Amino acid sequence: MGEFDLIETFFRRPPGVGPHRAVVGNGDDCAVIAPAPGMQLAISTDTLVEGRHFLSTVSPARLGHKALAVNLSDLAACGASPLGFTLALTLPRVDEAWLRGFAKGLFDLADEHNCELIGGDTTAGPLAIGITVFGEVPAGQALLRSGARAGDDVWVSGHPGEARLALEAFRGTLHPSLDAGQFDQARLAMERPDPRVALGVGLRGVASSAIDVSDGLLGDLGHVLQRSQVGAALFVDEFPVSPCLQARSRDEQLNCILAGGDDYELVFTAPPSARARVAQLGANLGLLLTRVGCIEAEPGLRLWRGGMDAGSAVREPVPNRWTSFDHFKGAAT
Ligand code: ADP
Ligand code: MG
Repeated sequence: MGEFDLIETFFRRPPGVGPHRAVVGNGDDCAVIAPAPGMQLAISTDTLVEGRHFLSTVSPARLGHKALAVNLSDLAACGASPLGFTLALTLPRVDEAWLRGFAKGLFDLADEHNCELIGGDTTAGPLAIGITVFGEVPAGQALLRSGARAGDDVWVSGHPGEARLALEAFRGTLHPSLDAGQFDQARLAMERPDPRVALGVGLRGVASSAIDVSDGLLGDLGHVLQRSQVGAALFVDEFPVSPCLQARSRDEQLNCILAGGDDYELVFTAPPSARARVAQLGANLGLLLTRVGCIEAEPGLRLWRGGMDAGSAVREPVPNRWTSFDHFKGAAT
């Protein structure tokens, strides 16, 4: 099977199958897309490289899912709704069973978000998947990293830490190891993350800033603090602990929650006046949203033990020894 047969067979969908929203879709020299009047385009790119971003043991369907999910997560963090995406695929060989699985995982998630594959590129080489997503957001309403203000609350979605737990399980560093149920839950978080697109859209006009957790919660929040020129106090005991993490030592729990990446949950800030709206949004989406700290004028990140609203007398500082993942510093994940 040659390059063009491959594209035609696996990545061009006939009329009636999946969304066809583009003015000019897949198959010409360029795709042409038009955001709705009053909307701005939001664009993001992410590449997944074998051995670096995924283990060779992952199923092709989950890989297809994840490659798009990490990109949709960036749209979510900006409050944008998906329009379409391009796919740059580098393959060591043409393996039809692999391609069928990959395309299934990819298109299942794409269809769930009404996001059309509008073009791409196909080459031979070490396995790598580059996706660029295009979304739309009402003019001026994109959620940015730079909008956090002193006095805002810090919120987190879902149960961060599960993906890191799975990675440690694959690395064989967990003693005792996970039982089957815990492992399945953690593995699902790592291989099949659910991009928080509806949350991001719901946070338009509510959140003051947002970011998705890809490299580690503290490090990613650090980007918000830096861009907003503020600091934060986080209360480690406020973080939700996933059922699969419950049996781990407190040290392991905090390491997974605070330093673990690959969760694709959102961390966002909002003024205290928005608490009821945030709670309502979480209830509407059936998604856990937890207030874990507050933004402060003093730069830097301070970690505390003790209840957030219990007053300063019972607070105890926690030394921050957690670093997030950096491709040019850390070990491969
Ligand atoms: P060109 O040479 O003009 O850049 P290509 O020959 O690379 O175009 O691709 C032909 C068409 O197939 C283009 O519309 C391109 O967007 C699309 N395409 C190529 N690879 C993929 C892919 N992996 N997924 C989806 N569309 C693809
Ligand atoms: Mg061309």
